[in-house]
Order: sequence, then structure tokens, then C-alpha cells
Amino acid sequence: MCIFCKIVAGELPAYKIYEDEKTLAFLDIKPTTSGHALVITKAHYANLEEISEVDLTALALATKKVGALLKEKLNVPGYNMSSNNDPVAGQEIPHIHFHLIPRHEGDGLVNWPKIEYGPGDMEEIAKKLTA
Ligand code: 5GP
Ligand code: ZN
Repeated sequence: MCIFCKIVAGELPAYKIYEDEKTLAFLDIKPTTSGHALVITKAHYANLEEISEVDLTALALATKKVGALLKEKLNVPGYNMSSNNDPVAGQEIPHIHFHLIPRHEGDGLVNWPKIEYGPGDMEEIAKKLTA
């Protein structure tokens, strides 16, 4: 059983902040910023390809609620919502989860770096994706 399934089963402790029939949210043990929350499905799915449409819908709706909680109860002005999908993208726990990372003016966090496409690259990629 994975770590997050153990939290769902009550075999590992967590600071739970939201729960419904299909989802659970709790505080990340090593937060990027204070209040960093993880929203998970109670059922185990490794990633976005595996998750059912019904559970993905529940996960998205729970994430929206937890985001509102952070704003309302912790006076968070905004947050990043992200998901690391597969180990190469930084996914450490193989159980789908959405991160909600509270952001504050001047918190010093830097968002994604950006690169430039070479000539023709965008066209080629779009062609591959739509072929
Ligand atoms: P990932 O890298 O898979 O996208 O994110 C996994 C997150 O889970 C990390 O931010 C990590 O700090 C958090 N985490 C790992 N183990 C535990 C745990 O036992 N309890 C809690 N609350 N968070 C955990
Ligand atoms: Zn799991």
C-alpha cells in the first residue's frame, strides 16, 4: 500500500483539512509555503492517465474547495495548483495528487522558467500532436 493509501486508511497520521466521499486533503509534511495542501483521491491511481473521469471530477472539485479554504481561512491571496505526473516530472508518491501552494507578495518563489522555440519547432510539434 502506498503512503497516501495508508493516510486514507488511517494507518499513517496526517493533518486532514477536507474530506468527502471520494477525496481527502491534508497538509504537506514538507511544505513549499505555509499551508501547502495535497488533495488526493481515496482510490489509488498512479497518475492522470489512470484516474477515472468520475474521480478526476471529484478531485478537481475538492481542489477548488480547498483553494477557497486557503484563501478564506488563511488569508492567502493566491496559490499555485500543480501536479507532478510521473517520476521524470518530480512525482515522488505514485498516487495522484494536486498540490495547492499558497502564494504571498514577495515570497521569493520563482515560477517555471521559459525557453524560446527554434524556427519551425512550434509548427512541427503541433503537427505531431494533431496528426
Ligand atoms: P510529489 O513529489 O509526489 O508531487 O509530492 C509528494 C508530496 O508529498 C511532497 O511534497 C512531500 O512533502 C509530501 N509527503 C511525502 N510523504 C508524506 C507524508 O507522509 N505525509 C504528508 N502529509 N506529506 C507527505
Ligand atoms: Zn495509493
